[in-house]
Amino acid sequence: MAGGITWHYVLKFIITGDAAVGKSSLLIRLTDQRFLANPDPTLGVEFGSKLIEIPEEGKIVKLQCWDTAGTESFRSITRSYYRGAAGCLLVYDVTSRNSFTNARSWLADVREHADPHLTCILVGNKADLVSDPAGEGGTGSGHGRHREVTTEEAEIWAKEEGLLFVEASAKSGQNVQLAFEQASRDILDKIKRGV
Ligand code: GDP
Repeated sequence: MAGGITWHYVLKFIITGDAAVGKSSLLIRLTDQRFLANPDPTLGVEFGSKLIEIPEEGKIVKLQCWDTAGTESFRSITRSYYRGAAGCLLVYDVTSRNSFTNARSWLADVREHADPHLTCILVGNKADLVSDPAGEGGTGSGHGRHREVTTEEAEIWAKEEGLLFVEASAKSGQNVQLAFEQASRDILDKIKRGV
């Protein structure tokens, strides 16, 4: 890598969860620092790559992120992408109870097909819609704009399942890089411990 930045680890991440929870938007936010109010509907699997630094480890990590399609009909396609993944963002929409309920079956799917040591972070996306009491959250997904999933219940479920957890917003950028960083730290820790 003449003159370029080099990295210590390449970590494959998958982003999974229901359609319209904001998986593509999280990936675009991470890699491009932008937000599209009307992105193309996800019709397959998109890919993005980003270097992040984990300063306390003194390591640069190259994230290779695969955005899996959210619809049932694509499950058979996306399953092959679980292979070799070190990290998973399991995404739901804090304004959609249904997407949170369905996170259980996405997690089951991940557990069935991915490496058992995979680090999974539960991401409650669209936090911008509920942090603004006036409800002027901008373009949403067509759901109501009030919170349907409390932070506490998501935290409890994440703990039960051994998942990391964060609420985030692809729109504002809040906690998006942090989600990937937290998961990456956990993965590096597992590598150090030889897990
Ligand atoms: P995907 O199907 O899970 O990949 O979801 P998309 O990324 O295509 O997003 C679905 C819709 O939700 C789009 O209209 C996005 O602009 C919107 N959206 C995604 N993330 C956020 C967010 O954090 N806040 C708000 N307000 N809207 C979001």
